[in-house]
Amino acid sequence: MSAVLQSGTPTDDTDPLRGPTGRAVRSGAFGNAVALSCRACGARQPLGAEFACQECFGPLEVAYAPDAQVTRAQIEAGPQTIWRYQPLLPVPADVAGLPGTDPGMTRLVRAHRLGRELGIKKLWVKDDSGNPTHSFKDRVVAVALAAARELGFTVLACPSTGNLANAVAAAAARAGIRSVVLIPQDLERPKVLATAVYGGTLVAVDGTYDDVNRLATEIAAEHEDWAFVNVNVRPYYAEGSKTLGFEVAEQLGWRLPRQVVVPVASGSQLTKIDKGFGELVRHGLVDDTPYTIFGAQAAGCSPVAAAFRDGHDVVRPVRPDTIAKSLAIGNPADGPYVLDSVRRTGGAVESVTDDEIRAGIALLSRTEGIFAETAGGVTVATLKKLVEAGRLDPEAETVVFNTGDGLKTLDAIAGEVGPTATIASSYDAFEAAGLG
Ligand SMILES: *Cc1c(COP(=O)(O)O)cnc(C)c1O
Repeated sequence: MSAVLQSGTPTDDTDPLRGPTGRAVRSGAFGNAVALSCRACGARQPLGAEFACQECFGPLEVAYAPDAQVTRAQIEAGPQTIWRYQPLLPVPADVAGLPGTDPGMTRLVRAHRLGRELGIKKLWVKDDSGNPTHSFKDRVVAVALAAARELGFTVLACPSTGNLANAVAAAAARAGIRSVVLIPQDLERPKVLATAVYGGTLVAVDGTYDDVNRLATEIAAEHEDWAFVNVNVRPYYAEGSKTLGFEVAEQLGWRLPRQVVVPVASGSQLTKIDKGFGELVRHGLVDDTPYTIFGAQAAGCSPVAAAFRDGHDVVRPVRPDTIAKSLAIGNPADGPYVLDSVRRTGGAVESVTDDEIRAGIALLSRTEGIFAETAGGVTVATLKKLVEAGRLDPEAETVVFNTGDGLKTLDAIAGEVGPTATIASSYDAFEAAGLG
């Protein structure tokens, strides 16, 4: 028998495994969440391990009790992790007992020097490389794992572009359960090794992420006790991204920023930052001030930017070819909803070339001492492009998201940077190299 998902307390082998489907949900298991609702047609269904609407096959998202009470004081008294936002997440009230790596409350850095360089008056970097496995994916995995436990799953799984693999393998290890991770075989070596080290099952697939995702969906249909965090428990997983928006608002002193620049892979993160801002307003936790959301993609995988540019509502899939592998989803599930968010808020989706991405990584490092992975290079380069094009207001307060750590994508800059000089170990050699 495999271990039941539990943390904090040892596994109770006498506790029978619950099946993932068709089970009554324990009262309070999902906090203030009350149902799954379809983003396309609005139909509701009970909380469970479902991701597609039974009426129209549209994507499901978590809906909450409209009268749920949430206060700033309650949040501020919580732990220094995403669990401080428990009343706004589909997780039980007892956050001390939640499994996983306890991500969140990463730093929000005032970027004076980058701002000066780009001509932006008030710029912040939300630096999510500080999470336990060094990307924002720890947030979504933590919420997915909590839901998976409540739904009785026994294995944590995912198809991944890299960072999700790290986060799932680590969280499963910490919860004492098996992980099964599927990746495209051409991923960056640090992301492969930083997944394998946790000891789960890691399968490198000969294909693109979109091929891997399709395979994972087939496997999920056959293995009913496997929680694929971004497939069959995706509605819960996606809620984890709201915490990026919650934290930015709280760290700014409980107010919304005027503009945000967010990377887009499947598009889930961007749409959930938007949802998070809306929930803060609805609960009276921040004033209802306008905000504009910009999306950032790599030119080598920019189906959402292309749809935005062409004024389309439909996102046409592409075959990715970019150094920004963590964003390389050619058929983004939430693409149309990204278009909704940016159009509704007066933003845009823009794309940048691999050279611009490398320059973006270097720019952020040189000005702020923050070494981003390629996805961070995408957002910084997109920020620069948007300012130069006059689309982003340089007078308005702006937050740019760095979602991952540069140490995982060293190859991207290996040809660009290196020692200033290589010398013999003598003072004469140092002088001769003109380094004084
Ligand atoms: C997965 C990922 C994203 C984007 O995620 P989506 O929610 O799929 O759009 C952004 N940055 C990094 C570093 C990622 O790993």
